[in-house]
Formats: sequence, structure tokens, C-alpha cells
Amino acid sequence: KQRILSGVQPTGNLHLGNYLGAIRNWVEVQQEYDNYFCVVDLHAITVPHDPKTLAENSYKIAALYLACGISLDHANIFIQSHISAHSELTWLLNCITPINWLQGMIQFKEKAVKQGENVGTGLLDYPVLMAADILLYDADKVPVGEDQKQHLELTRDLVIRLNDQFASPDEPVLKMPDPLIRKDGARVMSLTDGTKKMSKSDPSELSRINLLDDPDTIAKKIKKCKTDPMRGLEFDNPERPECQNLLTLYQLLSGQDKASVSRDCASMGWGQFKPLLTETTIEVLRPIQQTYTQVMDDKGYLESVLKQGREQAESVAQETLSRVKTAMGFSKPL
Ligand code: ATP
Ligand code: MG
Repeated sequence: KQRILSGVQPTGNLHLGNYLGAIRNWVEVQQEYDNYFCVVDLHAITVPHDPKTLAENSYKIAALYLACGISLDHANIFIQSHISAHSELTWLLNCITPINWLQGMIQFKEKAVKQGENVGTGLLDYPVLMAADILLYDADKVPVGEDQKQHLELTRDLVIRLNDQFASPDEPVLKMPDPLIRKDGARVMSLTDGTKKMSKSDPSELSRINLLDDPDTIAKKIKKCKTDPMRGLEFDNPERPECQNLLTLYQLLSGQDKASVSRDCASMGWGQFKPLLTETTIEVLRPIQQTYTQVMDDKGYLESVLKQGREQAESVAQETLSRVKTAMGFSKPL
């Protein structure tokens, strides 16, 4: 079987963008692959973080993976920082990464602006750590949202570079991964600005619907979300990014095809559409929230999942790391 690796940062609550752009797609194809899903807590500290909540947040993300339908029959779930090979391979890759590759990354530029003068080296290095995550597991496919496409390209460039410098063409050290980006849901937009992606790190809670929001909160957020004064609802009008986003959310959450949503909503006003989207969202999230509560109530179970995941991941990661170190010419530890 081909292998999949992907992850989410414990930087806040998971939202519909994370679900529709990433996790839902992991669940859909998990049976076809050998899967590694990590909680990327080392990535989470590339922006200022609270040490009091980091560990708990990582557990919550792992519990949500399970609640969203990731099955241990097909997947290993683990926490990135439990496996030191992620940091080690990052260092080795750092030393062959031209700094200007990193300075040009869109996510770095966007997040760096928010940090002002305090922007850390880790934020610049984020894509190299992500490359290490992927390459340690010899991943064939990396299912992510559209925003991570550029980082995937950098990972691919690093594979070429390392293999060129330290391996013979018929025996590459690193495996070339491919992005797996589904068109639908690859870029869920903010509820308060249809031109910005929905993000955990957006300071406004109203900008996103979290997977753990209760029905009243969901209703309130959808009621307050940005719309426009035009009549009727339609897809693909560049003047109406909010309309495009809300219809897409409704389409994906209700499991209908675009044509029938387009037809059904064409003559609707927001007053009619918003309750429909609210109900649909609540129904999709209800079972996820129920399972989440059960998993979080059984800490012992969650710990055993993460322990088993770590053990499995560790052995694969160590093997790749020593392959890279040997290729780069390091002496064997005595
Ligand atoms: P942060 O703001 O802290 O970067 P985030 O919301 O961007 O948080 P990440 O943990 O960075 O979430 O990303 C986890 C996964 O979710 C990635 O695969 C990413 O591509 C995907 N993703 C994030 N936001 C969206 C979105 N708005 N639409 C679709 N996919 C998304
Ligand atoms: Mg992100």
C-alpha cells in the first residue's frame, strides 16, 4: 500500500476549513492507504504559544481525529514532538535549504507581518519542518488544503536537491511525495471576509465555525456572517466571494452536487438560506461532538492510541533518519 502523511497544528480549535480541506479527505481514502496522522505541536510553537495549554490542545486534536472517523485499523495517530527524528531531520534539511526559498513563502510572509519585529526563526523554517514530517515516513501522498500547496512544492524541491547531492540516481535517499488536494473544500473562506481563508489563528471567533461549537454558537455565527445585498444566490460570481463560500459550505456539508444547490438556492434570500445552512452544519457536527466527548472522557484509551502510534511511527522515522545521515557522511554513533 502507498503511504499517507498529514497533520494539523494544535494552535486552536479545529474548524470547518480543517475538516473539509483536510480531515474529511483523510477519512474518505484511509482504507486505500497506510496512514500516518500527526498532531504537529512543533509547528504550533512557530508563533507565540501558551505552555499551559499546548499538551491539552494536542490531545484534543488527536481526539478529534478519532471523532471525525480516523480508524486505527488503517492509521497511526501520534504527536510530532514525541519523535525526535522530526527535529533532527529538519536540521539536516536546513543545511541544504537556500534561505531565499523560505523567504518567498506566502504563509511566512502573511504570518510574519502579524508578528512584527518578534518573528522567530522557527516561522521561517516551518516548511522545512513540514518537509521532514513528510519525508521521514516516505509518504507517497500528502492530503492538505490549498494553502499548503506551496510548502509541498518546497518539499519536492528538497527531495531533488538532497538526492542530487548525496545519492545516486538509481538509489534515491528520499522518496518524492505528491500533494493530494481535493478541489471541493480545499479553501474554505472566513465567515467575516470571503477573500481570506478560515484559520484557527484568526483573532475573531466569528470568522470560523469550530467543530466543537454548540448549536447556539453555530446559529449565531451564521446569523452574523458577512453577506451581500444582491438578490438571489449564485456560485462563481467573483463579486460575491461570501456567497460562493456559503453555498460551497452548504453543498459540501449537505452532500449534494453543485448543480442542485445552485438550482435550489437561485431564488433564495439570505433569510431563507441561513437557517438551512445552520441546520445542516449542526447535524453534521453532532455525531463528531458526541464521539469526541466519549474519547476525551477516556484519557487512558487516548493515551494508548498515542503510545501505539508513536511506537509505530518511531521505527519508520528512525530508519529514514539513519539512511539520510549515512548518505550525508556522518559517522555511526558508538
Ligand atoms: P493556523 O491559522 O494556526 O495556521 P490553520 O487553520 O491554517 O491554523 P493548520 O493546522 O495550519 O490550520 O492546517 C491543518 C490542515 O488544514 C492543512 O492541511 C491545511 O491545508 C488545512 N486548512 C487550513 N485552513 C483551511 C481552509 N480554510 N480551507 C481548507 N483547508 C484548510
Ligand atoms: Mg495554517
